[in-house]
Amino acid sequence: MTRVVVLGGGFGGAFTAARLRDRFRADPSVEISLVNRENYFVFQPMLPEVAAGSIEPSQIANPLRRMLKGVRFYASDVASVDVAAKQVAIYAGEGKHLRQLPYDHLVVALGTVVDLSSLPGLAEHSLTLKNIGDAFYLRNHVIGCLEQADIEDDEAHRRSLTTFVVVGGGFSGVETIGELQEMVSLVLPHYRSLRREDVRFVLVHSQERILPEVVPGLGAFAADELRSRGIEIMLDVKCKAATAEHVFLSNDVAIPTRTLISTVGNAPNPLLKTLPCRKERGRLVTDATLKVPEHDGLWALGDCAAVPSPDGRTYAPTAQNAIRQAVMCADNIVTAVRGNGLPKPFVFNALGKLASLGGRSAVAEILGVKVKGFVAWWLWRTIYLMKLPGFERRIRVALDWTLDLIFQRNIVQLKVFRTEKVDRAHYEPGEAIITQGEIGDRFYIIEKGRVEVARVSNGGPELRLATLGPGEYFGEVALMRDLARTATVRALEPTDVISLGRGDFAAFAQNLSLLKASVEETLGKRLPSEGAA
Ligand SMILES: Cc1cc2nc3c(=O)[nH]c(=O)nc-3n(C[C@H](O)[C@H](O)[C@H](O)COP(=O)(O)OP(=O)(O)OC[C@H]3O[C@@H](n4cnc5c(N)ncnc54)[C@H](O)[C@@H]3O)c2cc1C
Repeated sequence: MTRVVVLGGGFGGAFTAARLRDRFRADPSVEISLVNRENYFVFQPMLPEVAAGSIEPSQIANPLRRMLKGVRFYASDVASVDVAAKQVAIYAGEGKHLRQLPYDHLVVALGTVVDLSSLPGLAEHSLTLKNIGDAFYLRNHVIGCLEQADIEDDEAHRRSLTTFVVVGGGFSGVETIGELQEMVSLVLPHYRSLRREDVRFVLVHSQERILPEVVPGLGAFAADELRSRGIEIMLDVKCKAATAEHVFLSNDVAIPTRTLISTVGNAPNPLLKTLPCRKERGRLVTDATLKVPEHDGLWALGDCAAVPSPDGRTYAPTAQNAIRQAVMCADNIVTAVRGNGLPKPFVFNALGKLASLGGRSAVAEILGVKVKGFVAWWLWRTIYLMKLPGFERRIRVALDWTLDLIFQRNIVQLKVFRTEKVDRAHYEPGEAIITQGEIGDRFYIIEKGRVEVARVSNGGPELRLATLGPGEYFGEVALMRDLARTATVRALEPTDVISLGRGDFAAFAQNLSLLKASVEETLGKRLPSEGAA
């Protein structure tokens, strides 16, 4: 028995497994297996449309078991790869033990991960758009901001709720801001106290023009189109830091916002680090046939692989390339298993580039022909609909699009996350973490940085009561005594905090005797006099 194991069920992995299954269909001596974290394939190019509510989330997810009938499927996380022993360990038993999958040929198609740890506060306060959960969350978050803004009297707070900032002016950043702006402008008439001029969309891009992947003319068209719809574009500007209430930029501008969407920060899959072979910016280096030269039977493709192209560079991380590489990789494995020839090099010229801008407009470069506006948008939808795997999915997406033309955009805000949870947050100097007079709903522990506790009494000047540092906590008075916040706590330097909601704090305080004793002791010191928050 020859065992071929494919890691990853995205464009690279799923299409490799499908091709292998078709080529080995009549051969019972070959077993093909695929491991993927989720039990479905995601059509990532349509994520911005899911985030904007023109497609229902499940329509772009294809169950891998149905898509890959005949392939042994494992819905699990890959724990490790032992290239010397030729086996992969995956988690089994609800993550409590490992299961070994021996292989003769292993295809690594694990894509990339999002890593936002390089900028302070970005991991804690930005939203990403990499999977269906992200798109679903983003849509509900944006609707939630409009709901909050509609009942907010404070002008500045309302503006920050209706300000949406996207970092990254490549394909996914441009598509995301274009689609979200369209959604917000369609649903805005439902919110009686919000005016069009209250809503602000900002696209922050580190280079001198957006969509650097397409020719300058199309990039300029896209920029004009977005600007004509009121989207501000900040060029040659980088994001420096983020907090729950602001985005700090390299041009010293701080934008008050509750919504920062980051489309930058793709990083290599951490599992690749453990493989003993050559890497290029964290990606596995293959030869032109998609084989990893150092190890027998090891292949790599898609976003996690550095595949050499004839121009001396490596292929771009796109779905188009991953799908074509999948076919070539599968064919080369068939050749190797049957021992009837030499593997072929992967050579492919991208057929085109398409970016949807929302508002029934797009830009496209197809076989050298440049198209823009409505025709490009129609092409975008037609081409991506044809590329969506599965006839049933195509019908469902086409129906969603048709219904979206006829009916109003859905504004149901589905809250599927827990209302109480342990959270992390970052604050920049001068930002208030809690404000005197507010209803207290969270308890805070300082991880890093320093804060001041200050209070205004009887309309007098604000007095600093205490400064607190790492390991110290605040916010317990309001929770334990059911009072409004009795002081303001403000960051004195870049500060990271862990916070617990009321219910979780009560559970900890009741059941963890050390915490209970400590909180009661602190309460005794803080309540009668100063320093309470
Ligand atoms: C919003 C957005 C829009 C895009 N638009 C376009 C576009 O218009 N055109 C285009 O060509 N490209 C587009 N792309 C890029 C394209 O989606 C990627 O290039 C493509 O998905 C790469 O395929 P892949 O198989 O290498 O990785 P992925 O599709 O990311 O698949 C990797 C798979 O591996 C799984 N995995 C990772 N680690 C583990 C583990 N340890 N255990 C188990 N499973 C694991 C993941 O769950 C995932 O299913 C877009 C991407 C995004 C995010």
